[in-house]
Amino acid sequence: MPEAPCLFCRIAARESPAEIEYEDDLVVAFKDIYPKAPIHLLIVPKRHIESVATLTPDDRTLVGHCFLVARRIGESKGFAERGYRVNVNCGPEGGQVVYHLHFHFLAGRRGG
Ligand code: AMP
Ligand code: ZN
Repeated sequence: MPEAPCLFCRIAARESPAEIEYEDDLVVAFKDIYPKAPIHLLIVPKRHIESVATLTPDDRTLVGHCFLVARRIGESKGFAERGYRVNVNCGPEGGQVVYHLHFHFLAGRRGG
């Protein structure tokens, strides 16, 4: 099988290493290699979507699911009450570096 071209596609297919903390049919969540908070996970749809800018109405359920996974991670790590940040960067001026849609889950430090 040819190697998937995109880094996060490869991680989702377990062809590239990552510390995967959660997985289901639709998404994986793994540790960011350059964490910007004590807990920094990336929630990544298994299907390749480039960014928020290329979302279509067909992606509604998947995007909603990503937020529910964030909620689940927040609860499982004990942050439901204290809170956390769920962040999506889009495009060059939005700070997006990896062009496979992902939701940053950041917890353990007060957001600015
Ligand atoms: P963004 O700027 O929103 O595109 O975020 C990309 C994120 O991916 C950054 O926080 C990087 O630290 C993270 N990242 C890049 N390569 C890897 C990797 N191989 N495993 C885990 N996280 C990564
Ligand atoms: Zn991809």
